[in-house]
Amino acid sequence: MTTQQKKEIPVPQVEKRQPIPKQNLRVPGPTPIPPEASEAQTAPMINHRGPEFSAMMKRITLRLQYFFQTEALVMTYPASGTGGQECAIVNVFSPGDHVVSITIGNFGNRMAKIAEAYGLQVTRLEYPWGEAAEPASVEKRLQEVAPYKGVLLTHNETSTGVTNDIETLARIIRKHNPDALIIVDAVSSLACVPLEMDAWDLDVVFTGSQKGWMVPPGLMMIAASPRAWEAYKTAKLPRFYFDWEMTRKSLQSKWQHPTTPPLSVLYALDVTLEMMLEEGRQAIFDRHQRAGEYVRNRAKALGLDLLADHQYASNTVTAIKVPEGIDLKVMLKKLREEEKTVFAGGQGQLDGKIFRIGHLGYFTEADLQSAVDNLEHVLHDLGYKG
Ligand SMILES: *Cc1c(COP(=O)(O)O)cnc(C)c1O
Repeated sequence: MTTQQKKEIPVPQVEKRQPIPKQNLRVPGPTPIPPEASEAQTAPMINHRGPEFSAMMKRITLRLQYFFQTEALVMTYPASGTGGQECAIVNVFSPGDHVVSITIGNFGNRMAKIAEAYGLQVTRLEYPWGEAAEPASVEKRLQEVAPYKGVLLTHNETSTGVTNDIETLARIIRKHNPDALIIVDAVSSLACVPLEMDAWDLDVVFTGSQKGWMVPPGLMMIAASPRAWEAYKTAKLPRFYFDWEMTRKSLQSKWQHPTTPPLSVLYALDVTLEMMLEEGRQAIFDRHQRAGEYVRNRAKALGLDLLADHQYASNTVTAIKVPEGIDLKVMLKKLREEEKTVFAGGQGQLDGKIFRIGHLGYFTEADLQSAVDNLEHVLHDLGYKG
């Protein structure tokens, strides 16, 4: 045996740590968080197997059920929204199962890719980016591709700023396939726009902390209907970390999580759920609706074109076409550096063609007003005539 010569790993010469800037962060997640949530995160660590944790976890879980509008247990995992997509799929399907992915953008495509990575047979019903899944055509195409075991849907497609009519789509799916598993990515919609898991008969619904919940990234919340739990019993895809049963048992017997949960994010969520209840569910929906209308109207008044049609435009994120003659990279950089305002660019096929303004979670009307005012200044600085 030869001994490898020891290679010194030098101390890396890296940029000095800078304070995190204060910005008007208007991307569709992560969103700004209220001072109450920041404050909550500075609390000391507790034993996640102790009574203080259980009391908090019970409170959080029951309040999440209220916002999911479900009697089903809402399980909370340390993960981002993509973890929710994977968690939904691995718990209810088996290799070779045929699922239909109704995709209207980047996040719909991601869920379809995950299903394929796990060996499912995926039929994509694709709609042009910027449009919603049109119910009559979904109905027709679903019948053409039947039989199928489940349908993967996006409630609010964050990459295009479009909200699907999940209530109608779910009714159509149920009408032809009463046993279908209806999986809904509600990452950027839950807690911001109406979604009624039980009343709409949805089977798996998941969301992510950094979107509508006014807390940092790090938590994924997911609920499963009795039909989904039945499917779980025979589902054969490999799973461990995201296995529902392990989590259900911990929650229902002890209000704990089977692995170490991100305590600081939970502290924040404990506080923001309280704030959300104080504001009221309907008042939150109304605030998001006003935000959507405000941003869309201001953009139109500036002569800008919106990607999504009025009837399905999202109330959590607005996608705006980059006007002719404007270099998007330059515009976003100017906004960030000179106006401390941060918007998101486009993803996938919309890269360079649109930019997106997030208006979900924690914001005031003044935040949105200043964001659009700054956009207006920068556009005019760049020679935009409108
Ligand atoms: C943000 C988002 C996701 C997941 O993104 P992560 O970066 O993994 O949190 C998935 N679906 C939708 C609709 C989203 O908005």
